[in-house]
Amino acid sequence: MHMSVNLLDFDLDALAAYCEQLGEKRYRATQLFRWIHQRGASDFAQMTDLAKSLRSKLAGKAHVQALSVLSRHDSADGTIKWLFDVGAGDVIETVFIPEADRGTLCISSQAGCAVGCRFCSTGHQGFSRNLGTGEIIAQLWFAEHFLREHLGRDERVISNVVMMGMGEPLQNYAQLLPALRVMLDDHAYGLSRRRVTVSTSGVVPMIDRLGQDCPVALAVSLHAPLDALRDNLVPLNRKYPIEELLQACARYQVHAPRDFITFEYCMLDGVNDQPEQARQLVALMRQHAAQGLSCKFNLIPFNPFPASGLTRSPMPQVLAFAQILLDAGIVTTVRKTRGDDIDAACGQLAGDVQDRTGVAQRMASQRLGMLGGIKVVSVQEKQL
Ligand code: SAH
Ligand code: SF4
Repeated sequence: MHMSVNLLDFDLDALAAYCEQLGEKRYRATQLFRWIHQRGASDFAQMTDLAKSLRSKLAGKAHVQALSVLSRHDSADGTIKWLFDVGAGDVIETVFIPEADRGTLCISSQAGCAVGCRFCSTGHQGFSRNLGTGEIIAQLWFAEHFLREHLGRDERVISNVVMMGMGEPLQNYAQLLPALRVMLDDHAYGLSRRRVTVSTSGVVPMIDRLGQDCPVALAVSLHAPLDALRDNLVPLNRKYPIEELLQACARYQVHAPRDFITFEYCMLDGVNDQPEQARQLVALMRQHAAQGLSCKFNLIPFNPFPASGLTRSPMPQVLAFAQILLDAGIVTTVRKTRGDDIDAACGQLAGDVQDRTGVAQRMASQRLGMLGGIKVVSVQEKQL
């Protein structure tokens, strides 16, 4: 017996190829694609203008695989978080963040994450597995159609997607790429390239691939101005140090839909939030501006979780840091924390995954000596 095919795994070209195997023309695939993604249909019988012959060919051979919803949490600020059961004990999270002028969906790319950043609760959970294209896109498919119904809207609710949920999207590139194509396709979600953001901890070769294959907005999680500190906070830095990373960013910019790269910087009290470190960032960005890099900074107040042993920088410290960047002409924003009453804020997406790599265990055993290698600027300067 053949396994039934999940149509959410396909971008339009792949769906057309599949339909061709069934002896159907490309425009039939387009119709089917629109039914699924634009109308939220999963039942072929519902797709009334689709040829009967195609509908009967699909029945039994193919299906639209929804994720199973474990729970939904609604924040007082309108943020909604879903937990999805993706099987074998793995739970992933998706977050909807409404704003006046846009609706943003924060999507997961992996069950867990193997990068193991110090300040990230997903990182502390370890890694279980990559999500399939269908599982990545199912988060958008489900949320968009749920929200239209829930909010009583018949036009599009989600205008922006950020790959900032669980996982390192560029360590799941093969599955990510078709998912991005579905997001951008006018026959599906029709999102603007500028409004789809891939956030990465810095997988340099895959930044180049993305620039070639499917340039969308890029956010890079920098978190430190120097390699010694970044090695400790973002272990992937040992493989792809800051210099190589920023060079890849400059190359990406040639293809990017926006004329800047966003650098995310999680503000950790006494660790990476000192004025001296802001000045080091300014110097770093100046040096790379000469090579064509233009940047924007997004400072993220750290969302604490017990196992991290880290604390959030006080707001005056964050603002003082931002001011140094601003004074140097760097566009800088401080991210508003949304949904923290439901643990939906950045880095709180722990889901619950089976660690299959020992990352979590390794981190736990290192935790005591965590900041051992970090040179912390000792005296906190007077604040604003
Ligand atoms: N793996 C990708 C995308 C997911 S993380 C990446 O690292 O970029 C999305 C963002 O949340 C990253 O910028 C990450 O640094 C940030 N983040 C992780 N843990 C956080 C925490 N506890 N508080 C605030 N931001 C956090
Ligand atoms: Fe992975 Fe991103 Fe968390 Fe680092 S911050 S552990 S790369 S999800």
